[in-house]
Parts: sequence; C-alpha cells; structure tokens
Amino acid sequence: MAPECVSFILLSYTKRTASTTVYAVQASSLEDTIAAISTPPGESGIGIVRLSGDRAVAIVAQAFVSSRGRDIRSASQRVFHGHIKDAQGATIDEVLVHVMRAPHSYTREDVVEINCHGGAGPLNAVLELVLTCGARLAGPGEFTQRAFLNGRLDLVQAEAVIDRIQARTRASLRAAAAAADGVLSRAIQEMHDVLVDAMAHIEAAVDFPDEDLPDLVDDALRTQLEDVRMRMCELLDTAEVGRLYREGASVAIVGRPNVGKSSLFNALLRDARAIVTAHPGTTRDRIEEVITIAGVPVRLIDTAGLRTAHDEVEKIGVEVARDALQRADVILFLLDLSEPIAQEDGRLAEELTGLDQRVWLVLNKVDITPNAQGPDWTFSGTSRISAKTGEGLDGLEAALAGLLLGDASVALDQGMITRAHQRDSLRRAEAALGQLLENYDASPEFLSIDLREALDALGEITGETTPEDILERIFSSFCIGK
Ligand code: GDP
Repeated sequence: MAPECVSFILLSYTKRTASTTVYAVQASSLEDTIAAISTPPGESGIGIVRLSGDRAVAIVAQAFVSSRGRDIRSASQRVFHGHIKDAQGATIDEVLVHVMRAPHSYTREDVVEINCHGGAGPLNAVLELVLTCGARLAGPGEFTQRAFLNGRLDLVQAEAVIDRIQARTRASLRAAAAAADGVLSRAIQEMHDVLVDAMAHIEAAVDFPDEDLPDLVDDALRTQLEDVRMRMCELLDTAEVGRLYREGASVAIVGRPNVGKSSLFNALLRDARAIVTAHPGTTRDRIEEVITIAGVPVRLIDTAGLRTAHDEVEKIGVEVARDALQRADVILFLLDLSEPIAQEDGRLAEELTGLDQRVWLVLNKVDITPNAQGPDWTFSGTSRISAKTGEGLDGLEAALAGLLLGDASVALDQGMITRAHQRDSLRRAEAALGQLLENYDASPEFLSIDLREALDALGEITGETTPEDILERIFSSFCIGK
C-alpha cells in the first residue's frame, strides 16, 4: 500500500455544533474516490466492493450494465441488478449494485456497493476494474475516516465501529453498540458544554477586570465544575471494565504435570481440544481458547507444566508458559488434592507469590479425596473442584468473574471508557479540573489555563482536538475496506 493511500491531512477543526463537526480539511486524498473489498477474504455467497466519493457512481457506471437498461447515474437511493463488464464487453460477474447518495451514506459521500459473488476471483477482478476506471485503492479504515472527517461520526463512534466488528461476546457487542450510538460521546459533550460555559464566564472576568463581576466565578459555577469532575471520576472508574469487554482478559492455568490442567481447560471449554493423558508432560505447548465469563471474552491458556524440562521441546514449552503467566490477568494455580503436596508445588507457589498477577488456588480431584485439605497458602482465594465430574466449576467461574470485574456495577448501555488513550485524556482533563478547583480563588487567567487544558483533553476523546498523527495512527490500525 502506497503511503499516500493511507495519509490524510487534518489541518484544524473550525466549528462544532451539537450534531456536526465541520473540519477544514486540506487533503487532496479526500477528493479521490476510494474503493476496496469490504468483506473478508475467503469464499462466501456474496462479497462487496465498496466505493466512496464524488465519482463513485460515474466510475461504476462505466463498468455496469443494468439488466433492465437503467442508468445508475440518475439514481438516488437504489439497488440495481446487472453485470460488471470489462472494456471489451466481457462479463466479469453478475452483481447487485447499491447506490447511496450523499449525505445518506456511511461516509456522507456518494457510496456504491457492488455485491459480487464472494470469491477472490470476482472480487479482485471487479476491484481492479473500478481502479482502472478512476478509483483509488482505499487505505486502512479510510471509509470510517471519511465518515469521521465528514462529521457523521466522532472518534468515539468511529472506534466503536471496530469494537462492534471485533466484539466476541454479546456483552462486548452491547457495550460497542452503546458507544456507536453516541452514549459516551453525549456524556463527554455534556461535560464539554459546562466547561465551555465556565470558560465564557472566566474569560469575561479576564477581559473586564475592572468591572464589578463578583458572580462570574461564583459558587454555582464551582458546584457545576465539581459535578463535572465527579462525572469524570465515575467515567474513569469504568475504564478497567470497559477494557475487559473490548479487549478481553487472559487467564492462565498453571500447575505441575498431571494435576489436571488440560482437564480443567477442557471442562471450562466444555469440549476436548487439549490432549488429556495420564503421562506427565504432554502439553508441550501453550493451548489457548476464548471462553465467555460474565460477558467478558476470556483467553484461557493451558500452560505446559512448569517443571525442569528434559528436552529442548519441553524447555520451550516451559518458557512459553512463563511468558503466559507474566501476561495473564489471573492465574489459576492447580494442585492435585488426591496426592500429597509435592516439592514442585511448593517451588511453583513461591514463584507465583513473586508475581504481580492475582493467583487463585484451585484444588482439583475432590472426587477422589473429598475430605483432603489443601495447603494454607495465601493467594487471592481458593476453589475446590473436580475437573472430571464438573463439581465446583460454577463456583470457580463465579470467582473468576469476581476477580475480573470486581464489584463494578457498570451498565453496558451506559457510556464506558474502553481504550487507553481515552482514559489518558480523561485523566488529564480530571487533573486539570482538579487543579482549577483547588486554586479556585486564583486570578481568572490561571483558571482559564486549567480550563483550556481540560477542554483540550476532553476534545481528544471525541477527536475534536486529537493531534493529527494520533488520528492517523488510530485509523491506520483499522482494516482495509472498513
Ligand atoms: P495436566 O498434565 O496437568 O494437564 O493433567 P491432565 O488434565 O492431563 O490430567 C492428568 C490425569 O488426571 C488424567 O488421567 C485425568 O483424567 C486425571 N484427572 C484430571 N482431573 C481429574 C479430576 O478432577 N478427578 C479425577 N479423578 N481425575 C482427574
């Protein structure tokens, strides 16, 4: 992909109204009509080539022959049946062409979607043809980027598009849908409005210092600002849960060989993906699957037994296991309750005590020795289970849900902070507002500096004041065709 395909220049935004952000954009690339395959690679019933831009309809008109002799250039919002033909008149594919006119489209530009047969052959041939007819290959996320630049979506909503596509659980999807519908954006906008109001008052105090304006920075305004700060803190409290719903968590199962790690992995997965065997040391590599716990996508990792490796392959397995432990949100430390605690268990316990991660002790095989007591090691908590009979698994899942979500009672449909950059910006806004409130009796000039900082930081979440390079990075992390 040529760099110019992914670059865009956002010079500055000039004006924001309740529903629209108008950007002063100087970007020749925005004048191009872009095209890309918008469906994933592979074979399927249909696949879509999407175009967006002033010339989208005209470009497709060069290659499309309607079966009823219609001219799509005179269409407003319609679907046409027909064929895509090359310059020599040879049919490439039978298609449906969906014409959407600006501003009633995803990008607010003219958009044409060509529904082809879903295979690399027809899709690539149709794409090549529209490129020959004058379209430019779209960069990653460029359709969504245009929706953002044309004021249809703010940055929160644009990112929620990707979260929606990548959502792996119903809960993640609900959270993404709320963000895409503007729930978080509205919460940010309300705070923003109060701060803009405050700025007007404070700037009046700066501009007319000799006027008798005692009520400009009065208690009512202070209360409002304190209220905004409280809302910022509440929103910040959603960050960890928001991250979990979006990114998911990772839970590693660890224990010496033969304690039942693979059995627990399979039991939690409720199928038999890992190889379960009575011979120690068979899970040589790390095995991962995604399960859902309390709506959170959880990457469950069955690690190799963390013991002294006997051969090269096993050595690699042990290293991979250690790496998984370092990255896990929670570690399930499995012991075999039917056997005495082994030296190896003790060594492992010591190693785990040194980690920052939360460790949950799981005493397995209670079906064999129901009355056996486990060691009195202090970790985050203990569950007694049988991976074989399923006893205690519900309790273990509930414990995991508690460890991951804590006592957070975040409603999925409420605004949630889901990304690190959102959290960083909100933290900065909150800190600036905190500073302002602390020095509330200072001169208005000082107050306006803090207020400006809070406003800028809030604007970075919605994209209003986000630096260009960060916007570029965000959109270029999207896939081509989105
Ligand atoms: P790993 O090496 O830690 O992955 O252990 P496996 O999951 O391969 O299990 C080792 C052996 O213990 C197998 O024979 C399992 O059937 C058996 N096992 C695992 N969990 C239980 C359990 O809860 N009860 C009983 N009775 N046997 C179990």
